[in-house]
Amino acid sequence: MKNFLRKLVEVFFPSHCLYCEKIINKDSLFCGDCWLKLQFITDPKCKICSYPFEIEISHMSPLCSKCLIKKPSYDKSIVIFRYNPFIKKIIGDLKYRDKNFLAKKFAKILHEKIRSEIATYDLIVAVPLHQKRLRKRKFNQAVLLCRELLKFFPKKNFYPDFLIRVKNTKPQVELRKKEREKNLKRAFLVNKKYRDEVMGKKILLVDDVMTTGATLENCAKELKRRGAKEVVSLVVAKTVFGK
Ligand SMILES: [Zn+2]
Ligand SMILES: [Zn+2]
Repeated sequence: MKNFLRKLVEVFFPSHCLYCEKIINKDSLFCGDCWLKLQFITDPKCKICSYPFEIEISHMSPLCSKCLIKKPSYDKSIVIFRYNPFIKKIIGDLKYRDKNFLAKKFAKILHEKIRSEIATYDLIVAVPLHQKRLRKRKFNQAVLLCRELLKFFPKKNFYPDFLIRVKNTKPQVELRKKEREKNLKRAFLVNKKYRDEVMGKKILLVDDVMTTGATLENCAKELKRRGAKEVVSLVVAKTVFGK
């Protein structure tokens, strides 16, 4: 009976490719054609920010030139895709077109990537939106991702308002490098309610996209300032500049 019901569900509610809507196997996320358009970030890559390298690096802990010049406040980042027009469209759907179910799909991918080490984290924290933007958009995509991720790890501590965004900053993409740094300075604070919870913790910091890394950097800096032992960023996609 159970099998029959599942078959019925599959017939009436088949899985669609996240991009082109073609009908696909229920465990898949994309059809074969779209799968080929994805660019995964794999080794060799920067140990901290996951910037992918063209060639194999011989020493054990390679860092990109950016991280060598200034070590980020986060200790490591876990990234699935390279941000390209294809991923941009899908994440755009998640953010602006209210396709919340995409959060569920992405969380599934993030879960696969993080499951072996999740036990080592004390806390999951979402990159916050400013209240004004939250009111406009109605939801924070990073919180949606966390909530879906938590369905796999129900015992993990998660407070959606752990970090708060105290400055309503301009979108980073519209700014030059120097302006970006200024834009985000002291933009994030650990919520007063949770100040005692940061000391000595290993934190998984979740967002949808890492562009320059400045948002994650500023969130991580604040978490470290409050005593976090380790901060690891988890994002769906990362922009790879200069390629
Ligand atoms: Zn497709
Ligand atoms: Zn790096």
